[in-house]
Amino acid sequence: MSSRVTETYVRIILELEEERVPPIRARIGERTLASLPSVSQNISRLERDGLIHNDENRRLRLTPRGRRMAVVVLRRQRLAELMLASLLGLPHDQAHLESVEWGHVLTTAAEHHIYQRLSRPGHTPCGLRIPGLGDLVGGAEPPRG
Ligand SMILES: [Zn+2]
Repeated sequence: MSSRVTETYVRIILELEEERVPPIRARIGERTLASLPSVSQNISRLERDGLIHNDENRRLRLTPRGRRMAVVVLRRQRLAELMLASLLGLPHDQAHLESVEWGHVLTTAAEHHIYQRLSRPGHTPCGLRIPGLGDLVGGAEPPRG
């Protein structure tokens, strides 16, 4: 399983939490367009790697390590969305879609520059909170797992 798949799974679980949608395998299947057997296989790997665990209701929970990874990916994605929309003038829908890829490739240095250039924003154009900004301002490279 690629690191990109790993990052996608923990990021989706964090987004489901934000939306107050129970994080279960079926929701991940919907959002990744993957089959349930494939999702279950990937979930087992993430459990083995200590990034998630199942609670007593079979809901997926992020471990502290999984949460740190998810926050970094989502912060990068949302800063990129703002950059694409506000700085480059992409239509919001397009910026929203394209930012998903940026969540996997931005560096902390680039994030710092985007954050400063955009006058330290707190939310995306669609009003979603940019998580983990305290870690970014602190300047330390967040753990990537
Ligand atoms: Zn958006």
